Amino acid sequence: MEKELRVSKIAEGTVIDHIDAGRALYVLRILGLTGAEGLTIAVVMNVPSQKLGRKDIVKVEGVTLRRDQVSKIALIAPSATINIIRNYDVIEKVKVSVPPLVEGLLRCVNPNCITNQPNEPVTSKFRVLTIRPLRLRCEYCGAELNHNDVVAQLAGGTK
Ligand SMILES: [Zn+2]
Repeated sequence: MEKELRVSKIAEGTVIDHIDAGRALYVLRILGLTGAEGLTIAVVMNVPSQKLGRKDIVKVEGVTLRRDQVSKIALIAPSATINIIRNYDVIEKVKVSVPPLVEGLLRCVNPNCITNQPNEPVTSKFRVLTIRPLRLRCEYCGAELNHNDVVAQLAGGTK
C-alpha cells in the first residue's frame, strides 16, 4: 500500500523538494523566513522518498529564490529540486548542484587565514572534497569545513 501525503497546491511561488530529511528548517533559515512574513509556507518533514529514503519538502507562496540562496541550499540539501510555480503549474524545475569551488559564501574556520584578515580584500574559496558527508577545504590555508560548520554559517548557529 502506498501512502501519499497531500499538501494543497500553491498558486505562485517555489516548491523545494528532495531536501535531506530533517533539514527543511535550515532551508527556511537560508531563505530568511520565519513565518512572520505572512506568506503561506508548508513544511513537510520525514516523508518517504524513493531517492532519499526520507525527505523534507518546503513550499513557499510568492517567493522566488535568489542565486545565492540556491547555492546555499545546494550545500545543505545537495539532492534538492526547486520547482517554480505559476498559476498552479510547475513552469521550471531545477536540480541544485554543488559547485566544485564555493566562492564568497562561507567563512574560513581558521582565524589566521588570509580571508579573515580585515585589511586583505580576499574572497573566500573552498574546494568541495566530498558532498556526503560535506567536506570543503580552504584554497588559501587548507583548513577544512564540515557539514556542521556550513550549517552554522548558513542557517545560523544550530548544529
Ligand atoms: Zn582558510
